[in-house]
Amino acid sequence: MAITVAAGLIVRFLLVDYLESRKIWQNSLMSKNTVLVVEDEEDIRELLVYNLAKEAFSVLAVESGELGLEYASREHPDVVILDLMLPGMDGLSVCRHLKNSETTRDIPVIIASAKGEEADIVTGLELGADDYIAKPFSPKVLIARVRALLRRSRQPPADAGTTIKIHEFVIDPNKFKITIADNTLDVTANDFKVLHFLASHAGWVFTRYQIVNAVRGEDYVVTERAIDVQIAGLRKKLGKYADYIETVRGIGYRFRE
Ligand code: CA
Repeated sequence: MAITVAAGLIVRFLLVDYLESRKIWQNSLMSKNTVLVVEDEEDIRELLVYNLAKEAFSVLAVESGELGLEYASREHPDVVILDLMLPGMDGLSVCRHLKNSETTRDIPVIIASAKGEEADIVTGLELGADDYIAKPFSPKVLIARVRALLRRSRQPPADAGTTIKIHEFVIDPNKFKITIADNTLDVTANDFKVLHFLASHAGWVFTRYQIVNAVRGEDYVVTERAIDVQIAGLRKKLGKYADYIETVRGIGYRFRE
Protein backbone atom coordinates (compact mmCIF):
# COMPACT_ATOMS: atom_id res chain seq x y z
CA MET A 1 0.00 0.00 0.00
CA ALA A 2 2.70 2.45 1.04
CA ILE A 3 4.70 1.61 -2.04
CA THR A 4 1.75 2.16 -4.34
CA VAL A 5 1.09 5.57 -2.86
CA ALA A 6 4.72 6.60 -3.13
CA ALA A 7 5.12 5.26 -6.66
CA GLY A 8 1.98 7.14 -7.64
CA LEU A 9 3.52 10.30 -6.26
CA ILE A 10 6.69 9.85 -8.24
CA VAL A 11 4.81 9.27 -11.46
CA ARG A 12 2.64 12.28 -10.78
CA PHE A 13 5.59 14.53 -10.07
CA LEU A 14 7.52 13.38 -13.10
CA LEU A 15 4.45 13.92 -15.22
CA VAL A 16 3.98 17.42 -13.84
CA ASP A 17 7.64 18.08 -14.51
CA TYR A 18 7.27 16.74 -17.99
CA LEU A 19 4.37 19.00 -18.70
CA GLU A 20 6.05 22.01 -17.18
CA SER A 21 9.55 21.55 -18.44
CA ARG A 22 10.87 19.00 -20.81
CA LYS A 23 14.38 19.63 -19.56
CA ILE A 24 13.66 18.25 -16.10
CA TRP A 25 12.08 15.15 -17.54
CA GLN A 26 15.16 14.50 -19.63
CA ASN A 27 17.38 15.07 -16.65
CA SER A 28 15.32 12.59 -14.72
CA LEU A 29 15.82 10.00 -17.39
CA MET A 30 19.55 10.57 -17.50
CA SER A 31 20.04 10.43 -13.77
CA LYS A 32 21.04 7.10 -12.35
CA ASN A 33 21.11 8.14 -8.72
CA THR A 34 18.31 6.64 -6.73
CA VAL A 35 17.30 7.93 -3.31
CA LEU A 36 15.26 5.79 -0.96
CA VAL A 37 13.17 7.85 1.44
CA VAL A 38 12.01 6.14 4.64
CA GLU A 39 9.53 8.50 6.27
CA ASP A 40 6.17 7.83 7.88
CA GLU A 41 4.82 11.39 7.81
CA GLU A 42 3.06 11.87 4.53
CA ASP A 43 3.66 15.62 4.21
CA ILE A 44 7.39 15.29 4.73
CA ARG A 45 7.58 12.26 2.46
CA GLU A 46 5.79 14.13 -0.32
CA LEU A 47 8.05 17.13 0.12
CA LEU A 48 11.12 14.92 -0.11
CA VAL A 49 9.90 13.00 -3.12
CA TYR A 50 8.89 16.16 -4.93
CA ASN A 51 12.17 17.98 -4.34
CA LEU A 52 14.40 15.02 -5.08
CA ALA A 53 12.52 14.16 -8.27
CA LYS A 54 12.74 17.81 -9.34
CA GLU A 55 16.52 17.61 -8.91
CA ALA A 56 16.73 14.64 -11.23
CA PHE A 57 17.00 11.85 -8.69
CA SER A 58 14.87 8.81 -9.07
CA VAL A 59 13.05 8.37 -5.80
CA LEU A 60 11.61 5.46 -3.91
CA ALA A 61 9.58 6.30 -0.85
CA VAL A 62 8.28 4.02 1.87
CA GLU A 63 6.57 4.69 5.18
CA SER A 64 8.08 2.06 7.47
CA GLY A 65 11.44 0.80 8.58
CA GLU A 66 10.60 -2.75 7.55
CA LEU A 67 9.84 -1.65 4.00
CA GLY A 68 12.91 0.56 4.05
CA LEU A 69 15.12 -2.44 4.76
CA GLU A 70 13.39 -4.53 2.15
CA TYR A 71 13.78 -1.89 -0.55
CA ALA A 72 17.33 -1.02 0.40
CA SER A 73 18.46 -4.63 -0.11
CA ARG A 74 16.40 -5.19 -3.21
CA GLU A 75 16.96 -1.91 -5.06
CA HIS A 76 20.35 -0.94 -3.65
CA PRO A 77 19.71 2.84 -3.81
CA ASP A 78 22.59 5.33 -3.94
CA VAL A 79 21.44 7.10 -0.78
CA VAL A 80 18.92 6.39 1.98
CA ILE A 81 17.20 9.26 3.78
CA LEU A 82 16.06 7.74 7.05
CA ASP A 83 13.58 9.17 9.52
CA LEU A 84 14.33 8.19 13.13
CA MET A 85 10.83 8.15 14.63
CA LEU A 86 9.03 5.44 12.72
CA PRO A 87 6.17 3.18 13.76
CA GLY A 88 7.31 -0.42 14.17
CA MET A 89 11.03 -0.73 13.55
CA ASP A 90 12.58 2.63 14.42
CA GLY A 91 15.18 4.46 12.35
CA LEU A 92 18.15 3.49 14.52
CA SER A 93 17.30 -0.22 14.16
CA VAL A 94 16.98 0.24 10.41
CA CYS A 95 20.35 1.95 10.37
CA ARG A 96 21.93 -0.85 12.39
CA HIS A 97 20.52 -3.48 10.04
CA LEU A 98 21.63 -1.58 6.95
CA LYS A 99 25.16 -1.16 8.24
CA ASN A 100 25.44 -4.75 9.47
CA SER A 101 24.36 -6.34 6.22
CA GLU A 102 26.87 -6.97 3.50
CA THR A 103 24.45 -6.05 0.73
CA THR A 104 23.51 -2.65 2.17
CA ARG A 105 26.56 -1.66 4.22
CA ASP A 106 27.97 0.64 1.54
CA ILE A 107 24.79 2.60 0.94
CA PRO A 108 25.20 6.08 2.43
CA VAL A 109 22.56 6.91 5.03
CA ILE A 110 21.35 10.39 5.98
CA ILE A 111 19.42 10.48 9.21
CA ALA A 112 16.52 12.92 9.27
CA SER A 113 15.76 13.89 12.82
CA ALA A 114 13.67 16.31 14.77
CA LYS A 115 15.13 18.91 17.08
CA GLY A 116 16.22 17.53 20.44
CA GLU A 117 17.21 14.15 19.04
CA GLU A 118 20.95 14.85 19.20
CA ALA A 119 21.59 11.76 21.31
CA ASP A 120 19.90 9.62 18.66
CA ILE A 121 21.94 11.32 15.95
CA VAL A 122 25.12 10.47 17.84
CA THR A 123 23.97 6.85 18.14
CA GLY A 124 23.06 6.79 14.46
CA LEU A 125 26.45 8.12 13.39
CA GLU A 126 28.15 5.55 15.61
CA LEU A 127 26.03 2.84 14.02
CA GLY A 128 27.46 3.94 10.70
CA ALA A 129 25.08 6.61 9.37
CA ASP A 130 27.00 8.97 7.11
CA ASP A 131 25.32 12.28 7.79
CA TYR A 132 22.24 13.77 9.35
CA ILE A 133 19.85 16.58 8.66
CA ALA A 134 17.67 18.29 11.24
CA LYS A 135 13.97 18.82 10.65
CA PRO A 136 12.54 21.08 9.49
CA PHE A 137 15.01 21.28 6.63
CA SER A 138 14.99 23.38 3.52
CA PRO A 139 14.88 21.36 0.30
CA LYS A 140 17.95 23.26 -0.84
CA VAL A 141 20.01 22.10 2.13
CA LEU A 142 18.76 18.57 1.75
CA ILE A 143 19.73 18.38 -1.92
CA ALA A 144 23.16 19.82 -1.13
CA ARG A 145 23.67 17.15 1.56
CA VAL A 146 22.62 14.35 -0.76
CA ARG A 147 24.94 15.58 -3.49
CA ALA A 148 27.84 15.98 -1.06
CA LEU A 149 27.29 12.46 0.20
CA LEU A 150 27.24 11.03 -3.32
CA ARG A 151 30.43 12.90 -4.11
CA ARG A 152 32.16 11.59 -1.01
CA SER A 153 31.01 8.02 -1.46
CA ARG A 154 32.55 8.01 -4.93
CA GLN A 155 35.90 9.15 -3.57
CA PRO A 156 36.84 7.01 -0.60
CA PRO A 157 38.63 9.06 2.06
CA ALA A 158 42.40 8.97 2.23
CA ASP A 159 43.93 6.47 4.64
CA ALA A 160 46.25 7.26 7.50
CA GLY A 161 49.36 7.28 5.28
CA THR A 162 48.19 9.82 2.70
CA THR A 163 49.24 13.46 2.58
CA ILE A 164 46.18 15.68 2.76
CA LYS A 165 46.09 18.98 0.89
CA ILE A 166 43.00 20.97 1.73
CA HIS A 167 42.35 24.71 1.93
CA GLU A 168 45.67 26.20 3.17
CA PHE A 169 46.67 22.93 4.88
CA VAL A 170 49.24 20.33 3.90
CA ILE A 171 49.20 17.41 6.33
CA ASP A 172 51.98 14.93 5.69
CA PRO A 173 51.84 11.76 7.82
CA ASN A 174 55.20 10.48 6.58
CA LYS A 175 57.03 13.48 7.99
CA PHE A 176 54.46 14.07 10.72
CA LYS A 177 54.35 17.63 9.48
CA ILE A 178 51.55 20.14 9.13
CA THR A 179 51.97 23.34 7.16
CA ILE A 180 49.37 26.05 6.84
CA ALA A 181 49.93 28.57 4.07
CA ASP A 182 53.57 27.38 4.01
CA ASN A 183 54.15 27.86 7.73
CA THR A 184 54.99 24.78 9.76
CA LEU A 185 52.73 24.15 12.71
CA ASP A 186 54.16 22.78 15.94
CA VAL A 187 51.87 19.94 17.00
CA THR A 188 51.84 16.88 19.22
CA ALA A 189 51.33 13.38 17.85
CA ASN A 190 47.72 13.40 18.98
CA ASP A 191 47.06 16.84 17.53
CA PHE A 192 48.41 15.48 14.30
CA LYS A 193 46.24 12.37 14.34
CA VAL A 194 43.06 14.32 15.10
CA LEU A 195 43.70 16.90 12.41
CA HIS A 196 44.74 14.33 9.83
CA PHE A 197 41.69 12.23 10.56
CA LEU A 198 39.21 15.12 10.38
CA ALA A 199 40.81 16.77 7.35
CA SER A 200 40.94 13.52 5.42
CA HIS A 201 37.18 13.25 5.87
CA ALA A 202 36.34 16.92 5.30
CA GLY A 203 32.63 17.59 5.47
CA TRP A 204 31.86 14.53 7.59
CA VAL A 205 30.66 14.97 11.11
CA PHE A 206 32.20 12.67 13.69
CA THR A 207 31.16 11.98 17.25
CA ARG A 208 33.77 12.23 19.99
CA TYR A 209 33.72 8.47 20.32
CA GLN A 210 34.46 8.04 16.63
CA ILE A 211 37.38 10.45 16.88
CA VAL A 212 38.70 8.60 19.92
CA ASN A 213 38.51 5.36 17.99
CA ALA A 214 40.31 6.82 15.03
CA VAL A 215 43.22 8.29 16.97
CA ARG A 216 43.57 5.94 19.90
CA GLY A 217 47.19 5.21 20.55
CA GLU A 218 48.25 1.82 21.74
CA ASP A 219 49.89 3.05 24.90
CA TYR A 220 47.09 4.90 26.57
CA VAL A 221 43.38 5.49 26.63
CA VAL A 222 41.94 8.63 25.09
CA THR A 223 38.61 9.65 26.59
CA GLU A 224 35.84 11.51 24.82
CA ARG A 225 36.36 14.46 27.13
CA ALA A 226 40.05 14.43 26.23
CA ILE A 227 39.04 14.99 22.61
CA ASP A 228 37.39 18.29 23.57
CA VAL A 229 40.53 19.39 25.37
CA GLN A 230 42.65 18.23 22.44
CA ILE A 231 40.60 20.15 19.93
CA ALA A 232 40.56 23.27 22.08
CA GLY A 233 44.36 23.13 22.20
CA LEU A 234 44.61 22.43 18.50
CA ARG A 235 42.38 25.38 17.67
CA LYS A 236 44.60 27.66 19.70
CA LYS A 237 47.57 26.55 17.64
CA LEU A 238 45.64 26.98 14.40
CA GLY A 239 44.97 30.64 15.21
CA LYS A 240 42.99 32.26 12.43
CA TYR A 241 42.54 28.87 10.78
CA ALA A 242 40.82 27.43 13.84
CA ASP A 243 37.38 27.77 12.28
CA TYR A 244 38.12 24.98 9.86
CA ILE A 245 37.39 22.64 12.74
CA GLU A 246 33.71 23.12 13.37
CA THR A 247 31.87 22.14 16.52
CA VAL A 248 28.61 20.41 15.71
CA ARG A 249 26.57 21.15 18.79
CA GLY A 250 25.49 18.10 20.73
CA ILE A 251 27.13 15.79 18.22
CA GLY A 252 30.82 16.24 17.63
CA TYR A 253 33.27 17.83 15.19
CA ARG A 254 33.72 18.33 11.50
CA PHE A 255 36.50 19.70 9.30
CA ARG A 256 35.00 22.23 6.93
CA GLU A 257 34.74 21.02 3.34
CA1 CA B 1 8.53 10.10 11.82
